[in-house]
Amino acid sequence: MKEVVVKCPATVANLVCGFDILGMALKEPYDIMKLKLINEPKVIITNKDDYNLPTEAEKNVAGVVLLSIMEKLGDNIGFEVEIEKHIKPGSGLGSSAASAAGAAVAANYLLENRFTKDELVQFAMNGEKLASGVKHADNITPCITGGVTLIRSIHPLDIVPLNSPSLFVTVVHPQIEVKTSDARQILRKEVLLKDAIKQWGNIAGLVAGFEKGDTDLIGRSLEDVIIEPVRSILIPGFDEIKTRSKEAGALGGGISGSGPSIFMLSTDEATAKSVELIMQEVFQRLGIDYKTYVTSIAQEGVSEISTK
Ligand code: ADP
Repeated sequence: MKEVVVKCPATVANLVCGFDILGMALKEPYDIMKLKLINEPKVIITNKDDYNLPTEAEKNVAGVVLLSIMEKLGDNIGFEVEIEKHIKPGSGLGSSAASAAGAAVAANYLLENRFTKDELVQFAMNGEKLASGVKHADNITPCITGGVTLIRSIHPLDIVPLNSPSLFVTVVHPQIEVKTSDARQILRKEVLLKDAIKQWGNIAGLVAGFEKGDTDLIGRSLEDVIIEPVRSILIPGFDEIKTRSKEAGALGGGISGSGPSIFMLSTDEATAKSVELIMQEVFQRLGIDYKTYVTSIAQEGVSEISTK
């Protein structure tokens, strides 16, 4: 195999109460990446979209990931990469993770699957470090494996894939900028014990809910008493969307990643579509441009579309 084209899904990290430890893959939106092996130790990147992301390997998350793979291999090989991005950078929908995970998985296909899933996550985390300054795996892991994942620890890496019921996901991406660094900076460094108890009860409930396929338990556990109250002030319309979506029958939801996207889970498509109408109505009224998706949890992560 000399060339591979892969589909790289968007991901929702944090999953409300699971800050930095839970994430899930979405069927839509997704990026497309084409990778080719070349006999020179360099990475050549071409963008097939209008986002003007850097093409220097050291400044593009896909490039950084591929350079780390080349360093490990030590052979005289390199990669030609085409990125067709549909997940807007900075949306909170795992745009950088899609490129990082896509590069790692596609390179592995070309290298006859010599690396394990854990090794691919390690390579891909180098890309997340470039994008956000810290290594984190809550977008990368579900992007690679699909479904819902728990990252129990990154030092050492301990990934726990969770069962996920077929739920619908409504996403709204208001076209405002929330810098990941700002969203991290405003967080309090200390938490009250009573809040911590509530939070770990919710995380345990959410994990149990996924494992048992108990959607009521999932809904009850989608509560974040630590991060969301602080971060949601950066997202106009957040409280109204959450309250009205739940009234319309959604299980619950919250901020996707560090925002500004908001996601809501529903058990059926009709509810997911009424949630979309609520999101559209709120952002129209606020005069903020937006994009919505009604999609579902992707059981498959980065996947091959074609090979040559
Ligand atoms: P998201 O929250 O959507 O994942 P991030 O804030 O994690 O977005 O990452 C976006 C940042 O990473 C932007 O500053 C962008 O310029 C940079 N970046 C570099 N290469 C890529 C890439 N291939 N895909 C997406 N973002 C990239």
